[in-house]
Amino acid sequence: MPSSVLQFQGAKELLETIGGETAVKITKIYEKKDKKVTDEEVAKKLKLKVTEVRTILNRMHYRGVSCYHRTKNSKTGWYSYSWEIKTRRVLELLLEQHIERIEKLEKKKSFEENYALFSCKKNCDYIPFEIATEYLFKCPECGALLEAVDNKKRMKDFESQLEMLKKEREKIEKII
Ligand SMILES: [Zn+2]
Repeated sequence: MPSSVLQFQGAKELLETIGGETAVKITKIYEKKDKKVTDEEVAKKLKLKVTEVRTILNRMHYRGVSCYHRTKNSKTGWYSYSWEIKTRRVLELLLEQHIERIEKLEKKKSFEENYALFSCKKNCDYIPFEIATEYLFKCPECGALLEAVDNKKRMKDFESQLEMLKKEREKIEKII
């Protein structure tokens, strides 16, 4: 396992969609400590209310990214919760996302390779020749003239994005 899941492309964004910036911070705290953390401990470190931290941990739990262990204090009768961040699960979710992105990009790339595309100066949309003729070469969104797109740069962008995603996919697959 690398020192942090956050070094993977898109991992931070993934955690942010699950539980915002706090989810990222909690993951960092957990990884640094390399063992379970209590919600009180995290709250103290992040200067947040325990209830706020718990909300985020519960959201992460819902996605399978965190799990808790409950222990009862025999003196007070109160329960305390210690949490674990499932970094492997984060990587599994990330892998799913990568696979989806790769598929989408490859579809887009082969579509653009096989069609002469047209677009207005504002790049409202990319329209294949056959459709552009139907619109009489006027952008259906803004009405400006549709012109042939030089898609060499877009192809290069697609390729470099694909290359990066595939490399990351390989790295993740080796770990999980
Ligand atoms: Zn337009």
